[in-house]
Amino acid sequence: MVKDDQIIELQPNIFWLKGEETSSHSYLIRGDYKNVLIDSGVDKNFFKLQKSLLMLGLKIRDIDIIINTHEHFDHIGANRYFQDYSLIAAHRFAATKIAVEDRYVTMYKSADLNEPSLKVHLWLENRCRFDLGNYVLEVMHTPGHTSGSICIYEFTRKILFTGDTLFAGGTLSYIGESGSVGDYINSISLLETRKINELYPGHGNVSSTPEEDMQKAILNARALLRDEEGVEITHFREVS
Ligand SMILES: [Zn+2]
Repeated sequence: MVKDDQIIELQPNIFWLKGEETSSHSYLIRGDYKNVLIDSGVDKNFFKLQKSLLMLGLKIRDIDIIINTHEHFDHIGANRYFQDYSLIAAHRFAATKIAVEDRYVTMYKSADLNEPSLKVHLWLENRCRFDLGNYVLEVMHTPGHTSGSICIYEFTRKILFTGDTLFAGGTLSYIGESGSVGDYINSISLLETRKINELYPGHGNVSSTPEEDMQKAILNARALLRDEEGVEITHFREVS
């Protein structure tokens, strides 16, 4: 049993690997057939991520698939350490930005000029599924924060990995260069039709009150459209 407050087993074989500082969190799903990592975090978070995986008995090459929740640098930055071994998956609207390193949208800029370019092997569509045996993951295209944002729904536990689309407490992330508040409200309304027990976001805390979080997120987004003051928006914009 791993004892570390940076690695938390949220469900059997589903681990929350906390990101440091501006990095997104990563979530590891140890499937019967394949091991999936949701988001790789910022580049400089890699060594912490590698250590966390090692504590769980996994090497980099044991990660079969990385699913990026969207195209921002703080979720994709460590992909390059995995992409020779793992299949990198992202929604096709995110894949177009990651594959050409569209830094106006991704905010990703390599510090190393010799660094190999980022790759996306699986271009995802809404409702694609990953059957891992013990868990089944469904891609839900939820544009708003960015055009290529997805949430990942797990059927057996009714849990939702939300990236930057939905945070605990309904706090909004900023609406990115490829995003839209209108799309955002529509996406959260779509999520509200699902039975969801817990939210596993890309930053901050996990949540066991998804219905309240979704209601607050929609209220916050509508307030943003009315230019109301005091709408709480998080900023994860610093480029690593
Ligand atoms: Zn983001």
